[in-house]
Amino acid sequence: MNEIEAFDAVRRSLKKRRFEHTERVVEEGEKLANRFNVNVEKVRLAAILHDYAKYRPVEEMRNTIINAGLEERLLDFGDEILHAFVGAYYLEHELKVADRDVLSAVKYHTTGRANMTGIEKVVFLADYIEPGRNFPGIEEVREIAKLDLDQACFMALKNTIGFLVKKGQPVYPETFEAYNYYSNDLK
Ligand code: GDP
Ligand code: FE
Ligand code: FE
Ligand code: FE
Repeated sequence: MNEIEAFDAVRRSLKKRRFEHTERVVEEGEKLANRFNVNVEKVRLAAILHDYAKYRPVEEMRNTIINAGLEERLLDFGDEILHAFVGAYYLEHELKVADRDVLSAVKYHTTGRANMTGIEKVVFLADYIEPGRNFPGIEEVREIAKLDLDQACFMALKNTIGFLVKKGQPVYPETFEAYNYYSNDLK
């Protein structure tokens, strides 16, 4: 899968606004990859593809999790996390993306996880801080992302967990594990 093919696939799967978000994640991901010595080609491909499943019907994604034997607890943490995990599965099986580094960056772009690869961290963070985003506290994350990739991931995780907790929404356990991992890392 080259970039042209990847862009074609997501142009067909995404609405215009989401496609423009994707283009900004690619740009931001490239900057972060260069800054922190992460493989730029892999980051760009993962960023192009990261929201591939964003507009699949929730019922379809839930069925895929069951039928494909993905972890069933994914069904218990709100529908927003599904597109990341099912997206990685669809990319592998529908588009025949074979690069495990790219697939894992897509899989963990929403929840993060402990001990992320550089590619995973950059895609996770680029999705969070791309210039079209406007979350509370994002400017601080953007500033730290100029200096320290792990600390910027920690702050994005902290903000996301705080946001979910405030709304009384469930938090996927690997997001907590990521938060704990990167908080200890700072000591
Ligand atoms: P987008 O697809 O570009 O909009 O961005 P993301 O893939 O990062 O999805 C963001 C959404 O996922 C936000 O609404 C978050 O609240 C939600 N989210 C992120 N992490 C978690 C988690 O651990 N648990 C749950 N339930 N939702 C999460
Ligand atoms: Fe996403
Ligand atoms: Fe995200
Ligand atoms: Fe996204």
